[in-house]
Amino acid sequence: MVKQGVIPDELTKPYWDAANEERLVIQNCSACGRLQHPPARACALCGSGANLEWKETVGRGTIYNYGVVYDCPVASLKEDLPFNLAVIMLEEDPGILFYSHLPGTPVDDVPVGATVEVVFEATANGQKVPEWQVPG
Ligand SMILES: [Zn+2]
Repeated sequence: MVKQGVIPDELTKPYWDAANEERLVIQNCSACGRLQHPPARACALCGSGANLEWKETVGRGTIYNYGVVYDCPVASLKEDLPFNLAVIMLEEDPGILFYSHLPGTPVDDVPVGATVEVVFEATANGQKVPEWQVPG
């Protein structure tokens, strides 16, 4: 499915620039060692805004759970209904979650607990976005 374009802002630009290079990066607080996503201006644990850096992940995760979307208000997604919506736990920190349509995985046939790998898909405006796939 072709996803809506993403417009990076000042805070998220490094994340989206890395996605265009097919790298998944998340924020790491070097003061307390906490990873966080989505990007924020300060660390949610220690409050430091000066020690946030971007860290490249290995790009793997585990399927925590999923649902199937049968109806949604976004017109551009209607032709793809129904579709999977899975919750992915990042390998480096299972507390960091991503959502995925699991391209290539049949609807409602999702292997919960399986390892997935990040892939990158171009959106309507050319910006690449991370997606997750069960390795084929
Ligand atoms: Zn911190």
